[in-house]
Amino acid sequence: MKPAIHPKYNATKVTCACGNQFETGSVKAELKVEICSECHPFYTGKQKFVDAGGRVDKFKKKYGI
Ligand SMILES: [Zn+2]
Repeated sequence: MKPAIHPKYNATKVTCACGNQFETGSVKAELKVEICSECHPFYTGKQKFVDAGGRVDKFKKKYGI
């Protein structure tokens, strides 16, 4: 075992766009995510439209939908 060759592994505080916070293990000190297990439709069973940058609207305009 050579500990020096491994990156430092911390408990990382993850903050989601929905406001949920949880901890996980990562080499990063802090993480920000847009979706997590608390707000993902797959887990919540609710339909939630995720369109961060209006990309769908641009697509619709471009193709005249
Ligand atoms: Zn979330």
